[in-house]
Amino acid sequence: MAASSNSSLSGSSVSSDPEDYQPPIWKSYLYQLQQEAPRPKRITCPQEMESRPKYYGREFHGMIPREYADELLAGTEGAYLIRESQRQPGTHTLALSFGHQTLNYRLFYDGKHFVGEKRFESVHDLVTDALITLYIETKAAEYIAKMTTNPIYEHLGYTSLLKDKMVHRLSRGRTEPRRVTFQTDEKISSPLVRRSALKDTPEKQCFYEKIHNFKVHTFRGPHWCEYCANFMWGLIAQGVRCSDCGLNVHKQCSKLVPSDCQPDLRRIKKVFSCDLTTLVKAHNTTRPMVVDMCIQEIELRGMKSEGLYRVSGFSEHIEDVRLAFDRDGEKVDISASAYADINIIAGALKLYLRDLPIPVITFDLYSKFIQAAKSPNAESRLEAIHESLLQLPPAHYETLRYLMAHLKRVTMFEKENLMNAENLGIVFGPTLMQPPELNALTTLNDMRQQKLVVQLMIEHEDVLF
Ligand SMILES: [Zn+2]
Ligand SMILES: [Zn+2]
Repeated sequence: MAASSNSSLSGSSVSSDPEDYQPPIWKSYLYQLQQEAPRPKRITCPQEMESRPKYYGREFHGMIPREYADELLAGTEGAYLIRESQRQPGTHTLALSFGHQTLNYRLFYDGKHFVGEKRFESVHDLVTDALITLYIETKAAEYIAKMTTNPIYEHLGYTSLLKDKMVHRLSRGRTEPRRVTFQTDEKISSPLVRRSALKDTPEKQCFYEKIHNFKVHTFRGPHWCEYCANFMWGLIAQGVRCSDCGLNVHKQCSKLVPSDCQPDLRRIKKVFSCDLTTLVKAHNTTRPMVVDMCIQEIELRGMKSEGLYRVSGFSEHIEDVRLAFDRDGEKVDISASAYADINIIAGALKLYLRDLPIPVITFDLYSKFIQAAKSPNAESRLEAIHESLLQLPPAHYETLRYLMAHLKRVTMFEKENLMNAENLGIVFGPTLMQPPELNALTTLNDMRQQKLVVQLMIEHEDVLF
């Protein structure tokens, strides 16, 4: 097959300089097949059928026998009609001539027409899509089965985006996590041009893995898969698109794409309520900038404030900070001139942590932390918490580490601010930890452990992180 001729590309070495980037050769074989696919030919009924539902046109023939439908289609590729089932009156069958036989599909309508997952505005569109799919999947079955084996993903996409990010990354320093376990060599040598192009500055890279957020997508006009470089066939729902970075791939290719989503700031609309890893990847930071900025502001002017984190600021003002972050991102002004009361900033930080779709201590690990707090003695408790911390996603771990170091410093001013690890544990327990299923009883039962986990993390921040 002609289109497999450039598969050797994936074996070649990729230049680490984005300037040398060569666009891939899109594979046109499946596109050509789609052009060749039979077109729909509507077989109309000469009489006006009284039983015709208003959402069908003249292709509706009423309750005709299956054999008569075959005769009407006359073996013409792409010919189709709709008949009412004799066995189950009120149900409808799409009879479609393809591959020298008549295919019968139970046809549904609920505002849109469908026989399977895809939903169509018109029966004509449904048949067009069915013919493309049948034609390509019959003719190129073997090709499709193999199309993902030599992906040219590493050569693809994002080059312009990459260049922007290069400048951005180079100008930004970051603290390195103390543990090397989060940065295995495997991840560094991921065969992606996006990564390999950044080889010169490994210390500036953000190694957090993030899975793509794929959603079924209808592409207008011809589109090619950015994983296998093949055409995405069909009339609608031809593939999936990542809502965070815009990567377009076949549904079957989406399962093979590595967890290397680099969210595009233009697609990430919000700061609050945005997934933690998505946010830090979009902004190329180690931690969410809300956390860094609020903590810096509090350390600048709020450490001696009585009841810090316990006393709440005006909720309208906290809401105002949230809106400002969502609108201005890292350019937001949270200085004393904008918000004189430090409790507003502390409240905004707590709100940010509480509104995360996945809490800092993730749902997955929630019960592990609760169990850890129930360990019989002090030493095993710490060990179990440490063990659990190591399993947190890197962005979550980094955020928690930074926050705990800050809270530890807050407790050093206990004489002035009256806050110690225990009452900070009460404040931050439910903020950082939420059970996967909201259940009033579980929440109540776990409160002690939530408090204890946070208290211990503050007290032993130096050994735990
Ligand atoms: Zn993505
Ligand atoms: Zn593909």
